[in-house]
Amino acid sequence: MPPLFLFLTGSWCYDSLICGPDTWSSQGHCNGKRQSPIDIVTSSVRHNPKLGAVTLTGYNDTKKLLEMKNTGKTVDIELGEGLQLSGPGLPATYTAKAFHLHWGDGVHKPGSEHYINGERYSMELHIVHTKNNTSVSEALKDPQGIAVLAFFVQVRDWGGEGLCTSMLPAGISTKFDGSFSLQDLLGRPELDRYYRYPGSLTTPGCDEVVLWTIFADPILVSEDVVSAAILCKLGFWVVACGLMIPSPQPPHQEGRNKY
Ligand SMILES: [Zn+2]
Repeated sequence: MPPLFLFLTGSWCYDSLICGPDTWSSQGHCNGKRQSPIDIVTSSVRHNPKLGAVTLTGYNDTKKLLEMKNTGKTVDIELGEGLQLSGPGLPATYTAKAFHLHWGDGVHKPGSEHYINGERYSMELHIVHTKNNTSVSEALKDPQGIAVLAFFVQVRDWGGEGLCTSMLPAGISTKFDGSFSLQDLLGRPELDRYYRYPGSLTTPGCDEVVLWTIFADPILVSEDVVSAAILCKLGFWVVACGLMIPSPQPPHQEGRNKY
């Protein structure tokens, strides 16, 4: 008879009492001292004068969004080589590997992972980079091996269904046509307005290897802006169509060491 323990440790999920976030620590994950996500309490944030604008290279290249896949837990977008992140407080140049989204249930149930003063935004976009372009598995061995850029997405006046013409089933991939870049999706964020802290991956094993950069200003989405159509391509239609609704884990300790 297969041991139940092995079944549990290999099976985490977002939306069940059996394998959801409340069970992750009992499965041996996510018990560390610098766990993410957190609630960023702005009154306790400290300004760090040594930090400043991050530098993004290649983000405006329309050929770098390669393939989108519904993994069953998120929508993951693979990125081509050459998208780089550097800046104050980062110990090396980091190379983007992929990005994905966390969401709730449209405008009604916000789904960002990080909180600001106890509140969530509609969605959170994570761009995952590794230090010196190592593989992700190699980066997991380094406490500063991964840098994640996090952007909140706030949905306003969303009708949604009008743009929601197709669904990408779990396990299926689709290629991009080179018509837009990561920069097109992000808009023009203020690259010097962010919160920085050392944390972890937010899914098991919650490895404490991530330098987080969480941009203060959300990407605003409404039906009358072009980014709504882009977000729809990337996965917001998944929200509108209700294909799957991950519930992010609750935040850990209060924010610290912020800029
Ligand atoms: Zn994420």
